[in-house]
Amino acid sequence: MRLINIGFGNMVSANRLIALVTPESAPVKRIIQEARDKGTLIDATCGRRTRTVLVMDSDHVVLSAVAPETVGGRFEQEDAPDTEPKDKQFTADAKKSYARLFVISAPSGCGKGTILKRVFEDIDVFYSVSCTTRAPRDGERNGVDYHFISEKEFNAMVEKGAFLEYAGFSDHCYGTPMEPVLTNLENGRDVILEIETDGAFQVKKAMPEAVMIFILAPSVGEIRRRLSDRGTETPEVIEKRMKQAVKEIPRAKDYDYVIMNDDLDKAVSDFETVYNCVKSGTSGAEKYMTDKKETIKMIEEVLKDA
Ligand code: ADP
Ligand code: 5GP
Repeated sequence: MRLINIGFGNMVSANRLIALVTPESAPVKRIIQEARDKGTLIDATCGRRTRTVLVMDSDHVVLSAVAPETVGGRFEQEDAPDTEPKDKQFTADAKKSYARLFVISAPSGCGKGTILKRVFEDIDVFYSVSCTTRAPRDGERNGVDYHFISEKEFNAMVEKGAFLEYAGFSDHCYGTPMEPVLTNLENGRDVILEIETDGAFQVKKAMPEAVMIFILAPSVGEIRRRLSDRGTETPEVIEKRMKQAVKEIPRAKDYDYVIMNDDLDKAVSDFETVYNCVKSGTSGAEKYMTDKKETIKMIEEVLKDA
């Protein structure tokens, strides 16, 4: 049996669908009502607007918040003949071209912001704007770089369950608002989160299909140099961030891909290679995949001067 994701991780059997319809017309409304009365209605919208009604040959009717063309596309991809040899299928998920969630982590100062800024010139993705309780740096804009909020507002969002993940970092709180991430994924747009490692693993646990990318710099000394040269943090804050960096770097081995940001142009190009290969399900990004032995060697090299 093959299963298709119809939103929020809800799955339906791919073999037993007989129609995919929109919910607006009177006959479809009647079908929904009849299924409700018979107890054969499955509501997979999680409280959102119904965008697609799936009529199954078992007489079940499923409501999904995902657009009909997105659901249809997922069924079509499942039905497409497999032309790639098995050894080229480096992940089963990579073959599907539906919207993907990319989680990017790197110790502060490694250059993830710089790389992503360049990547966004070439690739159309939704960049998730996080909430933080830290103060804006010079030039940072509220709602663009972060939603700068108070601790009280942050705690209220935690209480409401409004974060996909959240974590403390260097005396401040950071969190990813859930709603925009889910809405963009459901609308078929890729999403990029730029978050630290604790939050990244929370996301991976909740959404195992997320693609995890870790960015490294050549050495701890180089990270410190980049942070100092950026000139946005005091020496005390830089030291705190360096301690955090030394803790985060070994976690690179638990990500799907690792990119070394030594030469910036190469790092941007490597990142785009990984993104494009994941999206198209083609080979070409294998050399950036974490390989326990190789990645550990790389991590040891970076930490040599810690
Ligand atoms: P992060 O977002 O990971 O905290 P930034 O993107 O702000 O890091 O980069 C930190 C500093 O390092 C910036 O001043 C940036 O210009 C610089 N930088 C980024 N990539 C490189 C690189 N490959 N070589 C040298 N400096 C870099
Ligand atoms: P900065 O203060 O330098 O902007 O960010 C500090 C760290 O917090 C970085 O590692 C950044 O990736 C991370 N970060 C930014 N937004 C979020 C978020 O929403 N959640 C988590 N867990 N980390 C975040």
